[in-house]
Amino acid sequence: MKRFNYAEPKNLVELVALLHQYGASASILAGGTDLINHISHGKRSPKIVVSLRGVAELSNTVIEKSEGIEIGVLATLTTVAEHPLVRQRYTALAEAAVKVGSKQIRNRGTVVGNVCNASPAADTVTALLLFDPVLSVLAETGRRTVALSDFLLGPGQTSLAADELVESIFLPTPIEGTASTYRKLSRREGVDLATVGVATSVEWSGNIRIALGAVGPKAFRAVAAELQLKGNPRDMDNIESAIRLAQVAAEPISDLRASNEYRREMVGALLRQALQQALARCKGGECK
Ligand SMILES: Cc1cc2nc3c(=O)[nH]c(=O)nc-3n(C[C@H](O)[C@H](O)[C@H](O)COP(=O)(O)OP(=O)(O)OC[C@H]3O[C@@H](n4cnc5c(N)ncnc54)[C@H](O)[C@@H]3O)c2cc1C
Repeated sequence: MKRFNYAEPKNLVELVALLHQYGASASILAGGTDLINHISHGKRSPKIVVSLRGVAELSNTVIEKSEGIEIGVLATLTTVAEHPLVRQRYTALAEAAVKVGSKQIRNRGTVVGNVCNASPAADTVTALLLFDPVLSVLAETGRRTVALSDFLLGPGQTSLAADELVESIFLPTPIEGTASTYRKLSRREGVDLATVGVATSVEWSGNIRIALGAVGPKAFRAVAAELQLKGNPRDMDNIESAIRLAQVAAEPISDLRASNEYRREMVGALLRQALQQALARCKGGECK
């Protein structure tokens, strides 16, 4: 591991000044579950690691707003998975967060870190895509907002400039009567990245959202499949047609976890399960 300096800014002014000063040679540290691995394996060699943990203004909770929720930059995967409002209204996100790594990883790692790491297999990213997430981005020059789908560019790549950080993620309140779920296939239950991840939400009106993870350079919404199901999501033939469209939209690679053919097949199996689960939840009156 190459040597690096370490900074613990105490407030936002100090934080953004450091990021401005060091630019691309600084790495932001949240929980460190990805960053420390990357540094020790030589994938990253920052001159300075800038910790967010001592910055007074940064939130480590989920805050209820009038029109949605705000996930603070330091909110851990455990905090998000266990939050009652997340579990009720954004169920797929709670289910995705609880499937990340081990308990220790979830107690340390953050949802924002999971997003900023930009892995195509990041569990919370796939689930978040159902809920129109907007990221608040901060730099010395000011704040801007960006939709998650525009933020993610490809494996390990985001649209963040070198001197910017993500401060929070806002999720608007889903339409009353929306149910959602997240399904993950991995080699070992518990501590492995998704081989395939599928998130689905169903509104009472019959609108469906589908997000796929680990089957392309970044997680994405399977829009053609969503349109196929619109207004008629319970018809079995229609579901099978939508599944085929989702499989066509997937661009999986072959790697040590699975072949591309297997991944594409599993998109179908997981989507079938996810749709059944979300529709059952809607029927069962769990929708909110
Ligand atoms: C054993 C193990 C198992 C794992 N299993 C899974 C799994 O099953 N599913 C899964 O999705 N992930 C898994 N992970 C990956 C990891 O735990 C998550 O990606 C985690 O959520 C990252 O959060 P963090 O707070 O630790 O981020 P960090 O490691 O601190 O940061 C991650 C990256 O994001 C950047 N960053 C962090 N915060 C910000 C910010 N606010 N603004 C800008 N950039 C920022 C960092 O510079 C770094 O590049 C696993 C990791 C390990 C070690």
